[in-house]
Parts: sequence; C-alpha cells; structure tokens
Amino acid sequence: MMKWFLVAVRSDFIVRHITTLTIMAVSAEHIRTLHKYEKTILSVLERQMSRYAWIPLEQLITSTGFAESEVNYRLARLIEWGMVRFNPVPYDGYALVFGGYDTLALASLTRKGTISALGTQIGEGKESVVYEALGLGPVAIKFHRIGGRSFNSARVNREYMTEGGHCPWLIASKLSAEREYKALVALHPKVSVPLPIAQNRHTVVMALIHGANLNRCILEAPAFVLDEILENVRIAYKEGMIHSDLSEYNILMEDGKCVLIDWPQWIETSHPNAETTLNRDIDNILTYFKRKYKLTYDREDAIQCVTG
Ligand code: ADP
Ligand code: MN
Repeated sequence: MMKWFLVAVRSDFIVRHITTLTIMAVSAEHIRTLHKYEKTILSVLERQMSRYAWIPLEQLITSTGFAESEVNYRLARLIEWGMVRFNPVPYDGYALVFGGYDTLALASLTRKGTISALGTQIGEGKESVVYEALGLGPVAIKFHRIGGRSFNSARVNREYMTEGGHCPWLIASKLSAEREYKALVALHPKVSVPLPIAQNRHTVVMALIHGANLNRCILEAPAFVLDEILENVRIAYKEGMIHSDLSEYNILMEDGKCVLIDWPQWIETSHPNAETTLNRDIDNILTYFKRKYKLTYDREDAIQCVTG
C-alpha cells in the first residue's frame, strides 16, 4: 500500500498523517512547515553558491535584510534539519546541501502544482534517487545527486564539470537534470522514453513507468525485445543522440514494451567519441541478451541497423 507524505508548503493543503517520516535527507514535516524567512535564506544561499564555496554570514544578513539574530536563529534550524552546512574556517560561512536543494525544488514543484505529495522511494542508482510522487496522476521524480556517494564516479569528469565554480556538486546535479530533461523532451514520443513533465533545479519529473528493470525480467520473446531496443537506439541516433549508458539496468519493461531511461550522459552523434560510445551501448545490450537468452545477433548487423 502506497503511503503519501505531503510536502505542500501552501497553507491550503490539508495535511494529515505527517509525523517525522524522513524523505531523503530531510523530513516532510520540515519542508512543509518551513518558515518564509527560512525559505528566503535557502534562496539566498542558492543564488550565491556559484560565487562562494561558503557564503559569509555578513552576506546573508545584507541579502536578506534580516537582523543578525534572526538569521542566526533560522540558520540553526536549517542546519539541524540537514538543509544547510556551517563552516567556521577561515570565516563563518554557510552552504546549501542536498537536503536544502531538495527542499527548494519540492517547494517550487508544489507551488506550481506539478506535484502535491511525495510517495516512497522507487529507485536508487549511482547518481540519483527516484521517488514516486503525486501530480495530475502518479509521476516519478528523479533527484540527481552528483557527488557525495558518486564522488569517485567516472561520470564526474563529464564535460559540464569543467564549468567549475564553487559548490560544484549541486550545480553539476542541476546541469545533469537539465541535460536529462532535454533528452526526454527531444526524444519523446519518437523514442520510448518516459514522458517529461517538468524540471526544477536538480530534479526531473516524468511519467511513472510501471515495470521492472530489464535485468530483473524473464522475457518470453527476447528476440522481439532486442529488436525493439535496437529500433529505439536507431531512432535516437537519427535524432542525433546516443544514450552512452545503455544497459539492462537502464531499460524498464512496461506491459512487454521497453522504455529507455537514465539519459543525463547522452552525447551528440557528432561528438568525437560517438562511434565508440554507440558501439559500447550496443555491445552492452548484445552481450546481455547473449548471456541471458543465448541470443546471437551479429554485432556489425546491429551497428548497421542503428546507423544505416
Ligand atoms: P541512475 O543514474 O541513478 O541510475 P536512473 O534514471 O537509472 O538513475 O534511475 C534509477 C532507478 O529508478 C531506475 O533503475 C529505475 O528502477 C527507477 N526509475 C527511474 N525512472 C523511473 C520512472 N520514470 N518510472 C519508474 N521507475 C523509474
Ligand atoms: Mn540507471
């Protein structure tokens, strides 16, 4: 049975059944009851994060126009709730962390009516955590999380990381979400990808796919599914895009139909590494079907089918 944790910050939402359940790093209760001054402070920290690794207290006082005591009081709460971090050296500075960024994104998505409640976690990958949420219908909300657990990931070397600046993990996560959303918008519905619904900060809201990852399925007609996957790869290629992380883990099976997910690392077909990358995507799929279903599909034929 699905449990819904309301995260609405608007007062016109009827909020019940919320106790201290924790959503990701932060609790629904704290997101919902966030004071407007706390929201202001989070917004200032967000605006300043590309300028400073640690935003000075003075800067926060100036930008918010609040008294120092007020700012300190609000910051203490935000720190306690896992939304902000404090660093005393070489000066008193504050930074937004994922909990705070999640809060800002959820507050915006809620205000716009994109979502009204957050459900349970439905997925977790190398660089994201995915929740079910309630929008017009059930939706999936993917929180990109570059850094932290994936600190050592090869993916952090992606081109957008060179944009640098301070506090790069939140910014990298936002760029990652933007990049994924762009792919979904470009490809849906020509390629079988989740319908994109909205994008905010480091989050992507998309249609909820009711199905399991391919690696957890036992297919009745594997040859048919393999053809369908290659056909989708072909259409994406025709649209100028290569997935770059295609595998049995990034394909969901919904009513016998494949859905290609997890697009932030896509590259253009004009990219210097396009050929190697495409071949690797195709190899991953062919190897999987060969190993699991003893299906042999000629590699050159597959590449020809996609690029021809
Ligand atoms: P990561 O880069 O972290 O691997 P994914 O996009 O692959 O991110 O998402 C992680 C997991 O979340 C997926 O393997 C899948 O199980 C689940 N998931 C992602 N998007 C959806 C969706 N739209 N509907 C249902 N489940 C999803
Ligand atoms: Mn994935």
